[in-house]
Amino acid sequence: MFEKEKQRLVTQLIDQGYIKTDEIKQGFLKVPREEFIPNSMKDFSYVDTPLDIGNGQTISAPHMVVIMCEALDIKKGQKILEIGTGSGYHAAIVAQLVGRTGQVYTIERFESLAKKAKKNLEQTGCTNVIVEVGDGSCGLPEYQPYDRIYVTCAAPCVPQPLIDQLQDPGKLLIPVGNMYCELTLLEKTEGHTIAQHLGGCVFVPLVGKYGH
Ligand code: SAM
Repeated sequence: MFEKEKQRLVTQLIDQGYIKTDEIKQGFLKVPREEFIPNSMKDFSYVDTPLDIGNGQTISAPHMVVIMCEALDIKKGQKILEIGTGSGYHAAIVAQLVGRTGQVYTIERFESLAKKAKKNLEQTGCTNVIVEVGDGSCGLPEYQPYDRIYVTCAAPCVPQPLIDQLQDPGKLLIPVGNMYCELTLLEKTEGHTIAQHLGGCVFVPLVGKYGH
């Protein structure tokens, strides 16, 4: 139904330099963003903007999802943790990138959003995402260590539990700041972590023990 709009947005994201790899292009093409968006806003599914999903939260803009996926350099078969499920859309894209041999765990603090996200993922045939409810600022210790961890909300600083639950080697991507924040990539190798700043961004706050 939205195929033309989706193709147009992919071309735009390539031209703007956001989509760099074929894996991300294919992942983006496979996931129907309209299925993760409330009925009243479906017409805006392929406009490159965040949209309201309820509980004062948003589904991130497509270019931000792409920037984060490119920065994490996700491989087939990896185990990934997402903090901030929201609609489930970003997790669905990452699920495509890790493939059937990989696994995505995602944690959301609002039960109602987690329920909707589970439904969205089921309806779009996504079988390798597990949705949990809880305070993701403490990570999700049950399934650690993770090859990649990413946070879709702004944290005051990098929560230590996330560094501890990261595989070595591994990568952790997190917006650090208030609403206006710095997208920060931490790479763990041989027990050390090195941080790299990838640029400014705007996110809803991480709320919880290690959040705001
Ligand atoms: N990735 C989402 C998507 O594709 O729709 C967008 C996520 S939205 C920008 C950020 C989400 O983080 C919100 O749903 C919010 O409720 C959630 N959040 C904030 N603090 C959290 C916490 N401590 N643990 C889990 N989720 C949290």
